[in-house]
Amino acid sequence: MTAEATEPDFDVIVVGAGPAGSVTAYLLAQQGHSVVLIERGEAPGAKNLSGGVLYGRVLDEVFPGFAEEAPVERRITRHVTTFLTGDSSVSVDYAGRPLAEPVNAVTVLRAKFDAWLAERAEEAGVFLMPGVRVDELLREEGPAGPQVVGVRAGDDELRARVVVAADGVNSFLARSAGLRSKPPEHHLAVGVKAVISLPRTVIEDRFAVTGDEGAAHAIVGDCTLGIGGGGFLYTNTDSLSVGVVLRLDDLLKHGRTAAEVFDHYLAHPVLAPYLRGGEMVEYGSHLVAEGGLEMLGSVVTGGMVVVGEAAGLTINSGLTVRGMDLAIGSAVAAARGIGEAIAADDVTATGLSAYRRHLDDSFVVKDLRTYERAPSFLERDRMYGAYGELAAGIFHDVFAMDGTPRKHLVTVAREAFKRSPLRLRDVISDGWAGVRAL
Ligand SMILES: Cc1cc2nc3c(=O)[nH]c(=O)nc-3n(C[C@H](O)[C@H](O)[C@H](O)COP(=O)(O)OP(=O)(O)OC[C@H]3O[C@@H](n4cnc5c(N)ncnc54)[C@H](O)[C@@H]3O)c2cc1C
Repeated sequence: MTAEATEPDFDVIVVGAGPAGSVTAYLLAQQGHSVVLIERGEAPGAKNLSGGVLYGRVLDEVFPGFAEEAPVERRITRHVTTFLTGDSSVSVDYAGRPLAEPVNAVTVLRAKFDAWLAERAEEAGVFLMPGVRVDELLREEGPAGPQVVGVRAGDDELRARVVVAADGVNSFLARSAGLRSKPPEHHLAVGVKAVISLPRTVIEDRFAVTGDEGAAHAIVGDCTLGIGGGGFLYTNTDSLSVGVVLRLDDLLKHGRTAAEVFDHYLAHPVLAPYLRGGEMVEYGSHLVAEGGLEMLGSVVTGGMVVVGEAAGLTINSGLTVRGMDLAIGSAVAAARGIGEAIAADDVTATGLSAYRRHLDDSFVVKDLRTYERAPSFLERDRMYGAYGELAAGIFHDVFAMDGTPRKHLVTVAREAFKRSPLRLRDVISDGWAGVRAL
């Protein structure tokens, strides 16, 4: 049978109603194409999990003024980066009101936010099929070689001119199309997250924010018991999103479980006061891609494209974790490329390669290139222990008036450095690598 033998049911099938899938579906429906959006969860967002800071400029291009209408929690105007030891913390606290307008970053809770995005797609004419898991790709021999022509879900087969794999980090579709192999463990992290409910006024007092403004804390060091990764603490309207992201290879090497590390983090004397009196209303765990540019492989084959985290699109720079904005950026590129391929009546790999060109020209691949060295930089163990201990040691000696004669800051720093396991060559090497990576 050839690809032309059976009429397609839709122009496009999108698998996965996360940010990548819903935005691709919405934009294609806006172009006048018939689109079905298939989601295995009972409702879009029901099972999805993010730390929750969405860098929103790209979404504002798709839905101008989205921050006024979408279920966003707070506009992030305060970014705190903290090195944590067992009993101390050293932070850099940037509070900038210009981050509020135009919208830069907002916190979202995925159950509400993904549902809102999928509703926008439905309003544009997308046919949403929740509670349906795609099990298999349908492939046939076309004039230009093997071509994806649809999907199978249970006993049902659906055909389309193009299938969009927006099925997230584990993308079974990208793997079954031969576009991706299983990522190595050091390119994957496991995230554990809880939502802790607290009264709005308590959050505003504890985090020194007002109105709809909010704070994002990125934390490294003892919060992960020295395991590669970090902790986060984000403010929502009347709850906090708190979690850890742990590099899978390092977690296994340390012989710990993610739940154990998370419990240690929640009980940490520096973190616990922020959470005091709160009630845990959500808890979940999810994989996250961490390989940066190295994870981005081929995103196009005959009849199919891959978007969002299914294509490995995430950036962890140590200061920010980004996946949702890259997912949306890839959706914009994919909708454009697919639209052009359908208009040219060429949905082979060659026709659909317009998507890859748009992706390469977008901020998504440009940012992945900028942070290309970040994953290997963040694999340096010293980031998660020795530097935090050194900084805490210096500040302790500056502030502790213990009756001994005072010393100049340079002497204090030199003595703290001598006590630390760090060597000068490590610091020079890490400093140089950090400058190039971040
Ligand atoms: C702990 C943690 C913290 C994070 N923090 C942040 C953050 O603060 N900011 C940020 O921008 N990013 C963050 N990320 C990353 C971000 O969550 C992802 O990059 C983003 O969700 C990717 O969007 P997506 O649409 O590509 O995939 P997803 O959001 O994973 O959506 C994929 C969808 O496909 C569906 N699906 C999968 N398989 C099938 C199938 N066979 N049939 C039908 N449906 C299917 C799933 O149910 C899901 O709805 C974090 C991730 C984790 C785990």
